[in-house]
Amino acid sequence: MRDLLTGLDVVDDADVLDGLSHDEAEWAPYGTAVAAVRPRTTDDVRRIVAACARQGAPIVPRGAGTGLSGGANAVDGAVIVDLSRMNRIVEIDADNMTATVQPGVVNDDLKKAVAEHGLWYPPDPASAPWSTIGGNVSTNAGGLCCLKYGVTRDYVLGLEAVVGGPAGDYGTVVRLGRRTTKGVSGYDLTGLFTGSEGTFGVITEITVRLRPARREAPRTVVGAFGSVVAAGEAVAAITRAGLLPAALELLDRTCLRAVEEWKRLGLEADAAALLLAQLDAPGAAGDEEAAAVAEVFRAAGAIWAERSTDEIEAEALFAARRLAYPALERLSPVLTEDVCVPRSRVPEMLLAIEEIAARHGASIATIAHAGDGNLHPMIMAPPHDDAARRVAQAAFEDMLTAAIGMGGTVTGEHGVGLLKRGGMRQELSPAVLAMQVAVKRTLDPLGLFNPGKVIG
Ligand SMILES: Cc1cc2nc3c(=O)[nH]c(=O)nc-3n(C[C@H](O)[C@H](O)[C@H](O)COP(=O)(O)OP(=O)(O)OC[C@H]3O[C@@H](n4cnc5c(N)ncnc54)[C@H](O)[C@@H]3O)c2cc1C
Repeated sequence: MRDLLTGLDVVDDADVLDGLSHDEAEWAPYGTAVAAVRPRTTDDVRRIVAACARQGAPIVPRGAGTGLSGGANAVDGAVIVDLSRMNRIVEIDADNMTATVQPGVVNDDLKKAVAEHGLWYPPDPASAPWSTIGGNVSTNAGGLCCLKYGVTRDYVLGLEAVVGGPAGDYGTVVRLGRRTTKGVSGYDLTGLFTGSEGTFGVITEITVRLRPARREAPRTVVGAFGSVVAAGEAVAAITRAGLLPAALELLDRTCLRAVEEWKRLGLEADAAALLLAQLDAPGAAGDEEAAAVAEVFRAAGAIWAERSTDEIEAEALFAARRLAYPALERLSPVLTEDVCVPRSRVPEMLLAIEEIAARHGASIATIAHAGDGNLHPMIMAPPHDDAARRVAQAAFEDMLTAAIGMGGTVTGEHGVGLLKRGGMRQELSPAVLAMQVAVKRTLDPLGLFNPGKVIG
């Protein structure tokens, strides 16, 4: 294998290779890779894929490894394709409001670069300071502002990828999609690759649509609630009232305390849950929206609800939301849920989570892109405690079942990876599962691209 990779940047150090062999999903197992390679060009990727096909070696694409489902985890004998060095912004086309990037460009770096042209790339996973556009596209990442502005898929116009093929022609470079605003020439293969978690090929270039930059800083409204379920009632009431915040996030007391203990942002963590809303309509309309959201929070039983007049405080609250996952991870290994339910059923799902925690004696902290109905209960289990791990796993399964029962899905944004395979099988009908398998077999007949993930 090494001969076939001559001239490429191959990782030799065993510790570095181990670090590249898994993502942030502490619960997901990973195997032993034979090598990790760091391509810089599409042609490098083409060579790697062709070499792997010749040797029958599994190919595991990797962005920044911030995934929370084990999607970038190595299988035995795999070659890890670490795309972090393909981090060039190829073009910002301000006239057509598009950007074309290599897959290893970090989300926040793209945001900063397009901001210089008065433009905005909205998808904003909480991992935006680290995660890559290639990883975001491959997981169809969501984030805080997708309530109003949509998920990654809504911004991907076209892709370049190194693929396999019906004739086993691994190493073929294809361009999918378009760079025009509209276009329906053939099936939507760009959409198919978006969210495919590296199981169809390696994405080597991406063209995304952009929006004009927001002209004003969004207003922030904070609501404090006596229970997590009461906060959920307020979320449902916001939807019923026809309000559409740019973001509507939930943070429970355990998460707030964990962040405060770590970062000392000066946050008060007395309430059981906080709701953070961002309203970004320009001018007086934004002020009116903010007042309306605060009113709905109060009517839904908030202990208090106020528009934040202090930008530093507002920023600290959203920073706390973004830091909640790593803050909890410092305290204990966590098994992270990603269920998504219809918005009207958010209170019911939050109640179900409380009941499941009580039934199993599990310790669960919750953050949520609540306005989307996308909840991230995080089940904590002390290290090396097998009984606690079994409890966590049982609670995890029950939450998946509860979400499906409410017309929801087992993964709103993190992807199936390794952790949600069972849940996906529970959610999709046998006929639909068979279609998924058929697509995979057609695009990757040798089963080399990220085997064992999503299906299998
Ligand atoms: C603190 C924290 C907060 C997070 N918040 C959010 C959030 O708000 N919303 C959200 O959606 N997710 C969130 N995540 C999860 C994670 O950041 C996203 O899934 C992200 O899109 C992964 O990007 P990555 O570059 O780290 O990809 P990786 O983790 O490296 O890979 C993710 C998947 O994509 C595949 N892949 C990566 N690059 C390519 C490529 N070029 N071609 C083909 N396949 C590829 C991998 O094989 C894997 O299956 C969070 C994670 C953390 C740690």
